[in-house]
Amino acid sequence: MRSASVTMTETTLDRTQPASAREPSGEQPGKVRTYDVRTFGCQMNVHDSERISGLLENAGYIAAEEHATPDLVVFNTCAVRENADNKLYGHLGNLRATKRDHEGMQIAVGGCLAQKDQNAVLEKAPWVDVVFGTHNIGSLPTLLERSRHNQDAQIEILESLETFPSTLPTKRDAVYSGWVSISVGCNNTCTFCIVPSLRGKERDRRPGEILAEVQALVEDGAVEVTLLGQNVNTYGVEFGDRGAFAKLLRACGEIEGLERVRFTSPHPASFTDDVIDAMAETPNVMPQLHMPLQSGSDTVLKSMRRSYRSKKFLGILDKVRARMPHAAVTTDIIVGFPGETEEDFQDTMRVVEASRFCSAFTFQYSARPGTPAATMEDQIPKQVVQERFERLIALQNRITAEENQRQIGTVQELLVTADSGSKGSETGRRSGRAPDNRLVHFSVPTGAPEPRPGDFVTVSITDAGSYHLLADPTSVDEFRLRRSRAGDAWDRAQAESCGVGTTQVGGEQPGAVSLGMPTLRPNG
Ligand code: SF4
Repeated sequence: MRSASVTMTETTLDRTQPASAREPSGEQPGKVRTYDVRTFGCQMNVHDSERISGLLENAGYIAAEEHATPDLVVFNTCAVRENADNKLYGHLGNLRATKRDHEGMQIAVGGCLAQKDQNAVLEKAPWVDVVFGTHNIGSLPTLLERSRHNQDAQIEILESLETFPSTLPTKRDAVYSGWVSISVGCNNTCTFCIVPSLRGKERDRRPGEILAEVQALVEDGAVEVTLLGQNVNTYGVEFGDRGAFAKLLRACGEIEGLERVRFTSPHPASFTDDVIDAMAETPNVMPQLHMPLQSGSDTVLKSMRRSYRSKKFLGILDKVRARMPHAAVTTDIIVGFPGETEEDFQDTMRVVEASRFCSAFTFQYSARPGTPAATMEDQIPKQVVQERFERLIALQNRITAEENQRQIGTVQELLVTADSGSKGSETGRRSGRAPDNRLVHFSVPTGAPEPRPGDFVTVSITDAGSYHLLADPTSVDEFRLRRSRAGDAWDRAQAESCGVGTTQVGGEQPGAVSLGMPTLRPNG
């Protein structure tokens, strides 16, 4: 077995010479290595994976073709969900033989599970080459290079943030939209959550830096930006400005060409009226709010150490809807938290009924080792949790269907997405997002111009499914296309990546993909 070089805590790597993906020992000189990043978990992880891809491409790697065996597989892991460990080690086990048969292949494990398990990853899967934590994504190319050179595994886990993640190169999944981290970490201590111990205390980026990144995304063709943090509305706590998040939303409203601003997730306890005012008064901030409820029972909220109560939660929704009557609200709910009685659960049902969420992410509580709730008494039997969960789903499905029905006949401007859904090729419908972020599948009437991902279309909603809306205009008069910079950027990215921009009708062969440079590639 190879030895492992372990670098922990405050090590700083020299990155003045970027690690390269070329000419690893034992391989053909000049061969460019391919990579595949496999992501588990939340939006934060998806965003981190974009950064990992950007870093790797900066170091000269290229994305592996679908179904090809990559030279490098990176797992960006999540420790929040049940069985995350089993899933990761299952995937690693499956890759063991592939690695044996594919000379020079490397495997890296990063993200929350790596931060939590550290050395245990290599003990359980000694064929892994690199383990890196949530605070040092930027070290990955160097660690890979070092592992190849020294022929031993590398672990580097930092206890605190070394470089703010958003200063790393990013390869965005969609040219028309981007995510911008405004903060990382969390100062709360919810008893079911492992995030504070893995991601650390809240660290806020400076507003100027955030706005510069938003501006750069817009210049790259993005028309939509989502501001991201574990707890966006405590933004500013680190530099002593409680009103900083509302100011940031208003400042985004000043950026020319930025058409849609979203954010996730706010915490109900820190939700202040200045944020509602900024949302209502800034035209490009979309009428959408994802705000985790977790439980409608005040007793359970207390035991979760979430410092708002159901009355406050409902009060925020009232204020939001008074200012933005069409705002779509979504949430997260945990069922079966330790000690939850039938009465507590009924409180959750009552708050859900009153909240009229347009959809909800519902979770059955499962104990996460290392969290206070894992050792609480009164863990709820699985069948009780399951039965409550099914009742909650039935209630939310009814509300979702009712709320979707109310959309029929409304006229919506959709931002066209690249992904047309699983049935897109069957039905010929394209997909887009309404201002309130509802998913709409729409058809393009005969004779109407075909929109590109990133363009906007205006249609009337004609039907509603359980999880989406439908718009089937019957003539070109019922369909309006607004071409956008994002659509142009999509065309350019298509032409750069495979030479077939949707508006390209002839001409020369596409140029070669430029290696070693961060590029924008649409997914799909
Ligand atoms: S607010 Fe609570 S649930 Fe959210 S990241 Fe912080 S500790 Fe976890």
